[in-house]
Amino acid sequence: MTHVLVTGGAGYIGSHACKALKSAGFTPVTFDNLSTGWRDAVRFGPLEQGDLCDRDRLDQVFAKWQPVAVMHFAALSQVGEAMARPGIYWRNNVQGSLTLIEAATAAGCLDFVFSSTCATYGEHDNVVLDETTPQLPLNAYGASKRAVEDILRDFGAAHGLRHVIFRYFNVAGSDPEGEIGEFHRPETHLIPVMLQAIDGQRPALKINGTDYDTPDGTCVRDYVHVCDLVDAHLLGLKHLQDGGDSRVFNLGTGQGFSVREVLDAGAQVTGLPVPHSEGPRREGDATKLVSGSTRAGHELGWAPSRSSLEQMIGDAWLWHRNGQYDS
Ligand code: UDP
Repeated sequence: MTHVLVTGGAGYIGSHACKALKSAGFTPVTFDNLSTGWRDAVRFGPLEQGDLCDRDRLDQVFAKWQPVAVMHFAALSQVGEAMARPGIYWRNNVQGSLTLIEAATAAGCLDFVFSSTCATYGEHDNVVLDETTPQLPLNAYGASKRAVEDILRDFGAAHGLRHVIFRYFNVAGSDPEGEIGEFHRPETHLIPVMLQAIDGQRPALKINGTDYDTPDGTCVRDYVHVCDLVDAHLLGLKHLQDGGDSRVFNLGTGQGFSVREVLDAGAQVTGLPVPHSEGPRREGDATKLVSGSTRAGHELGWAPSRSSLEQMIGDAWLWHRNGQYDS
């Protein structure tokens, strides 16, 4: 059996990656400390509980399963929290990733797929964000991910670790079969927060700033369906297994939507009003993050098929109404 080590496999994106890996004939081994993930989301292979900063535990897991590759999702990922508590971002995201990268290298597991973020780019006026855009992160989340990208490059040069780095734009939607989905406690991401506001599970959604330099004054983001996103990871893994070079790819659709446009689509898809109010800007938010790259399409053959706003919100709504994890 061909094992792939999936850090953060109990989380939102990691669990979707595990499902896709299983469908593709791999056995995903989840490595997760369950600090934000869910035991219930680990349905497609074994769970190894442990912390990324625990080198001994990582060495045991590599020795036990002999994975052919690592997909590294485990990370803290909230902009607001990163502004307030940068230390936990540097420790968890950077120290944890460095420990993992060292363990993988020592074990001879040299194919590495890493989830990075468009938050590494920061604010760029009227610039198309492609993989060559300078990375000038506005918050410790983006900065911590950029640092891990640098570590991967150094380990590639020194130890032959080959990597595919994916810089995600805004990941949304859930498994259309309703088996797994987006489930954070507390929830901070726009689409699930909107769905909770729609069905009264929380008070009105607050729009974080209405005075941005965008057509309707709210931030613009590029949303990509989680299933399309994990498809790219399978293609990235294949690229490495076929002997391809280390590469970095943006994962976005190239189409931007403002917060207000997302709320309008939410009302349309659910047929229900979205209770909302207007608030101040959230520190650390860039005005506009939209991918201007087609590299993943050209080089990997990636072609997102579920990433219309309606489809993403529809799949998220299905999960919101029918699915949740207990533990
Ligand atoms: N947002 C908002 N209200 C909320 C949650 C998010 O206005 O309750 C905004 C947020 O400030 C950003 C956009 O929605 O401009 C997307 O935020 P999210 O947290 O989903 O993803 P991020 O862009 O931070 O990765």
